[in-house]
Amino acid sequence: MMLIDSHSHLEMPEFKKDLQEVIQRAKSSGLEYIFTVGTEKKDWNRALEIAHSHPSVYAILGVHPHNAREIDEETYPTLRKLCADDKVRAYGEIGLDFYRNLSPRDIQLKRFREQIVLAKELRLPIVVHDREAHQETLEILKSEKAKEYGGIIHCFSGDYEMAKECIEMGFFISIPGSITFKNAGGFQEVVKQIPLDSLLVETDAPFLAPVPFRGKRNEPSYVRYTAQKVAEIKKVPFEKVAEVTTENAMRVYRLK
Ligand SMILES: [Zn+2]
Ligand SMILES: [Zn+2]
Repeated sequence: MMLIDSHSHLEMPEFKKDLQEVIQRAKSSGLEYIFTVGTEKKDWNRALEIAHSHPSVYAILGVHPHNAREIDEETYPTLRKLCADDKVRAYGEIGLDFYRNLSPRDIQLKRFREQIVLAKELRLPIVVHDREAHQETLEILKSEKAKEYGGIIHCFSGDYEMAKECIEMGFFISIPGSITFKNAGGFQEVVKQIPLDSLLVETDAPFLAPVPFRGKRNEPSYVRYTAQKVAEIKKVPFEKVAEVTTENAMRVYRLK
């Protein structure tokens, strides 16, 4: 049995004390690979360093919509260099967060477009963060022709129609631990309809821990609870969900 955590943040301070144990626990839980996402300048080198010290860890680099306002003339040249590293398997997370609005919306929109262009230049799939900005996210993915290299909609929170449009554009839909929450009925209905062939599972650790760890620090080994819930919802064996989501992740991240 194999599992992949398609999205985590191992470089965040929450893992400073026990990163080795966290990665070891992931291995013991059947995780083949962990993808760690460096979302801002101060995290990129640390994400790469972790990826280089652990054969099971790969990196994803980019500027999160929260940090869009911090992009300056050095940002893209730096990312161009860092992303040439073979351990970098996607560009992101990029997108729109109209829930927290930590960067002004017009800047988020502009930087999202620019970073899709950059990812295409780097020939990398993109990892998209969309919170309360479904329509704008779809519009930009279409107009910037993100289909060319495709990617992942991480922490998916849209409806089935949106999932379908994203899948048609060559995107995978990544399911976080919130699928296990008591109030996730609507979301579970959506996931039920999305073909397993288009699904990934993720933790977004240290955030969004699944039940029975809700409210605690999340970690990659907990991705199995999310995969188990997906199996339950879709009425297929857990092993099948593990196998297919692993294949999907290996395909989008071009492993082997
Ligand atoms: Zn995100
Ligand atoms: Zn994230």
